[in-house]
Amino acid sequence: MHTGLFHQIDFSADGKHLSHLGIPFSIDRSPYYQVKVPVCRIRNGTGPRVLLMAGNHGDEYEGEICLTRLMRRLDPAAMRGEITIVPFANRPAMMAARRRSPLDEGNLNRAFPGDPAGAPTFRLAHFLEHELFPRHDVVFDIHSGGTTMAHLPCALMEKQGTPAMLARALELMEGLGMPFAFVAENGATAPTSMAAAARAGAIGVSGEFGGGATVTPASMALTARAIDRLLIALGSVEAPVLGPHAAVDAPTQLLALQSHDQAVFATRRGWFEPAVLPGARVKAGEVAGWYHDFERPDQAEETLRFPADGIVISQRLHTDSESGDCLVQVGRLLTRAEALGG
Ligand SMILES: [Zn+2]
Repeated sequence: MHTGLFHQIDFSADGKHLSHLGIPFSIDRSPYYQVKVPVCRIRNGTGPRVLLMAGNHGDEYEGEICLTRLMRRLDPAAMRGEITIVPFANRPAMMAARRRSPLDEGNLNRAFPGDPAGAPTFRLAHFLEHELFPRHDVVFDIHSGGTTMAHLPCALMEKQGTPAMLARALELMEGLGMPFAFVAENGATAPTSMAAAARAGAIGVSGEFGGGATVTPASMALTARAIDRLLIALGSVEAPVLGPHAAVDAPTQLLALQSHDQAVFATRRGWFEPAVLPGARVKAGEVAGWYHDFERPDQAEETLRFPADGIVISQRLHTDSESGDCLVQVGRLLTRAEALGG
């Protein structure tokens, strides 16, 4: 039988159940091959319905580690409602240590609303947006910068949904205990998980918790605390499952990422030397770095300047760059009223 995606999840079953989504993808070595994506359902009666996912991009590890640990530790008797955990959403990408799937070059976070008859990444996106997200009140999608990008650890949301959904997303995002959080505007039709969550009627919360295809004690601590704080805020659990955690020492500083004008893009081959680290507070016109041309070593390097005031939120890690690569991004300081405004 050929359908978009198979599963045997019983959404009404209490207890903890680990199973797989199966995405048919007939290949030379295995005509009836299915991409198997692990999914864990933990349910204890009715209550908050939360979907936790990581591995939307395969090389982003904080969420993948924290969610597999959470899956093992969560005792159904110690929670209420429903928690669905998808720790490696784009599993082929995770197994290849890549951002995108090697099977179809699919970037899951650019694949929504998906296609039930398409390549595996697009079938998965279709299932998530049309079948799984609508069964949940909140979707928490955990990212990081991945192999080529350093990222300021920060929560993230998109301006999506009704004003009430927007306010609730902001409240939940600020409750994660992250030092920074940015609000992106990608539009209602965006191909991202956050736009898909809104289209499915769920509150979307996300974040960039590290970068460079690695994890650190600091990035893991922030991620674990954010997951526990979200589950406690929603009433899924009463005590931290991944804790104990350090206390939150400052309110979350909101940042806006609304325009490509807040970034410096390469427009030719070059070698990027940054002047500051993510987290630096900068002003428009200050030196962001230098762009070298190793094919013309006699030519002076080009000075790159920040295009806006704010906080450096991401930076390219790989020195060797090409036309089109985003070298550095600046988040503009944002007030709560601005975040909620139209
Ligand atoms: Zn990502």
